[in-house]
Amino acid sequence: MVKNTSPDLKHYKKLLLDRQKELLAIAKMSQEAASPVELDQSRVGRLSRMDAIQGQAMSLEAKRRTDAELTRITSALKRIDVGDYGLCLQCEEKIVAGRLEIDPSVLLCVQCASQR
Ligand SMILES: [Zn+2]
Repeated sequence: MVKNTSPDLKHYKKLLLDRQKELLAIAKMSQEAASPVELDQSRVGRLSRMDAIQGQAMSLEAKRRTDAELTRITSALKRIDVGDYGLCLQCEEKIVAGRLEIDPSVLLCVQCASQR
């Protein structure tokens, strides 16, 4: 079998689409969980209002991260279509496959990322 050394776009596209689906599911769930903080009498005691507020702040932070990753995934999918996928946004060198395997939406090579 001939091994193709160029990035396996189909493979990464699948990884990206799977991750996108996962994130959209998470976003939907946390949207439901992020309903306004109520002082539910049945929960007072075990879960104080402070805990509820803290939990909400954490879910907002999680949402911000989910949104940021979704944005990166969308742009990575766009880059697959235009043929720029797998190239570092800064130095235009190839991003190593192992790095894309861990995070297929990554935009920078190891060197450029470490310089930030
Ligand atoms: Zn680079």
